Amino acid sequence: MPLKAAILHVTPFQQNCTILWDEAAKRATVIDPGGDLPEIEAMLAQHGLTAEQIVLTHGHIDHAGGADELRERLGVPVIGPHEADRMLLDNLDKQGRAYGLDGARNVVPDRWLVEGEALEMGGVGFDTLHCPGHSPGSVVFVGLAERAAIVGDVLFRGSIGRTDFPYGDHAALIASITQKLLPLGDDIRFLCGHGPGGTFGEERRSNPFLQR
Ligand SMILES: [Zn+2]
Ligand SMILES: [Zn+2]
Repeated sequence: MPLKAAILHVTPFQQNCTILWDEAAKRATVIDPGGDLPEIEAMLAQHGLTAEQIVLTHGHIDHAGGADELRERLGVPVIGPHEADRMLLDNLDKQGRAYGLDGARNVVPDRWLVEGEALEMGGVGFDTLHCPGHSPGSVVFVGLAERAAIVGDVLFRGSIGRTDFPYGDHAALIASITQKLLPLGDDIRFLCGHGPGGTFGEERRSNPFLQR
């Protein structure tokens, strides 16, 4: 398939900054550049890629803390997440001080995303699904033709995103996963914000948070 992906573990949270690209066109999307921007730029250079956009799955610092500076350095737009995470993106500098992360900047995206919005990443079409719960504005990207999804911190292999923040909503997160994601098909492979990816089918069968 033309879609290529590389994952860099960024920030002390070991967040999976994912770069998607089209090998023929060498055009790339950088998803969730939480920090460690020199490593992200080195990865782009190593593969001879030109970044065309930065995409955010949600407003947490390990995902979004480097977005504003990377936008400035690459001259590309920041797209997403859903506007319900504006209150997080407006406070990334404070989150950075609280967690001891230097250089995190607040970011105002060039474009917010809404449910159903189409987005091209790495030459492949993805649909946006608004999946609140871990954060109010979390979004998931599903490439139905490619049978691939980028789920941020909504779903992990064998786990789900934490919801113990003041704005977290466990019931909404479970509903997002069971009503929007899993029905798309067991064969869909996903990449997530922390740890290894997997398939929707494996999570439907064995993820302890999704059993009833
Ligand atoms: Zn998060
Ligand atoms: Zn995270």
